[in-house]
Amino acid sequence: MPPHPDSATAEKNLRSGSSVWKERQPPCSVLIDSIRADIVVVGAGVSGAFMAHAMSKKFENVVVVDRRAPARGSTASSTAMLQFEIDTPLTKLADKIGMASAARAWRRSWRATQALVKLVQAENIRCGLRRASTLYLAGSDMGFRGLEKENRARHRAALPGEYLAAEKLREIFSIDRTGAIFSPGAASADPVRLTDGLLRRAIQSGVRLFSPVEIKKVMATPHGVTLDTGKHFIEAKYAVFCTGYELLKDVPREGTKITSSWAVATRPRANYPGWLDETLVWEASTPYLYMRTTPDKRLIVGGEDEDIDLPSYRARSLERKAGRLTAKTKKLIPGIELSIGHTWSGAFGESEDGLPIIDAVPDMPNCYVVMGFGGNGTIYSLIASQIVPTLIKGRTDKDADIFRFR
Ligand SMILES: Cc1cc2nc3c(=O)[nH]c(=O)nc-3n(C[C@H](O)[C@H](O)[C@H](O)COP(=O)(O)OP(=O)(O)OC[C@H]3O[C@@H](n4cnc5c(N)ncnc54)[C@H](O)[C@@H]3O)c2cc1C
Repeated sequence: MPPHPDSATAEKNLRSGSSVWKERQPPCSVLIDSIRADIVVVGAGVSGAFMAHAMSKKFENVVVVDRRAPARGSTASSTAMLQFEIDTPLTKLADKIGMASAARAWRRSWRATQALVKLVQAENIRCGLRRASTLYLAGSDMGFRGLEKENRARHRAALPGEYLAAEKLREIFSIDRTGAIFSPGAASADPVRLTDGLLRRAIQSGVRLFSPVEIKKVMATPHGVTLDTGKHFIEAKYAVFCTGYELLKDVPREGTKITSSWAVATRPRANYPGWLDETLVWEASTPYLYMRTTPDKRLIVGGEDEDIDLPSYRARSLERKAGRLTAKTKKLIPGIELSIGHTWSGAFGESEDGLPIIDAVPDMPNCYVVMGFGGNGTIYSLIASQIVPTLIKGRTDKDADIFRFR
């Protein structure tokens, strides 16, 4: 989709259908004058919320703006499986960027997942967070031999997980696949309440949240950055663009693409095997099927990704995709009953290596961008909120090199 002619970012119809998450409204202000800030965060989705929260601990005058109400972009489509496991298996990522960097990326993802859980608990954010294990099933991309190799590589990289052979998988989970990796350390949550909670804590620490405010132009100089809203200016020392899949104009996008993904949620009190409340399921297939549950006992199933970025296609495929997700789930877990209450779809971002881009924007001094691609985008949002403030403070983050523009 071409960039919107009158905006600093592309404007997309990010979502179709009805997401299972209820809207929330943290207190927003109206921008009635031009203002100054140390840091301006553009975007109040989950990436902007983590960023605002982290910045509030390090900078005095932090401002967040969004052209929508908070968490009404792709954050509302997320199924919020919070996994350290990157979409690209460690063994495959090692082929692309070398084992040392791949292991660093995976370990960073592990630490960030644990940090996310601790942060939510420490800040007492009520977002339905539940710790879980993950069950990564053999599929069309990797059979049992591939998974055994992957599990060995993960162990060498000091990552936990247990390989389950077909018999054990059948015995414990009644799933008929050639093997699986069972790992601890994941979680799930309500992404809208997570974003709302982070923004509320940031506001309590002095962050100002303005919505709706659209950034139309960015004027970056070696001394700071001025954002033009069409009516007012926001002058800041630094700007951080957390605009999700509505990418900043002129930002390099080689090796990345925007695709489409679909999800369904059953009605509450669904009848599924109890172990699903403690286990996130996904598979080594392209596209992959995945599932989790919620505290009110809904089963959420997602996947069916397609390499196409057309809102009209996303919308008209809702029923067909819901049928396919339901059929695949019934095949995987025989006897399961599914009464679908919500079906939705959303734009989804992918990068060739499955890693995000967290970096200074080329040729735009004092501007940083967070492009959290992949199925564990939320974890990348948290990593970005660790890296960007560190870089702005002039310090180094030992993993920042992995997430640069490629
Ligand atoms: C079906 C589906 C399932 C998913 N499941 C998972 C999952 O299980 N786990 C996971 O971790 N991730 C998942 N994701 C990915 C996850 O949704 C994204 O990583 C995440 O939502 C990105 O958040 P964000 O804050 O970067 O973007 P957004 O939520 O889109 O927020 C960006 C904000 O920037 C604002 N903005 C853009 N341009 C401007 C401008 N010029 N001026 C002002 N404001 C602007 C937008 O209005 C928007 O609110 C899933 C995605 C989909 C579609």
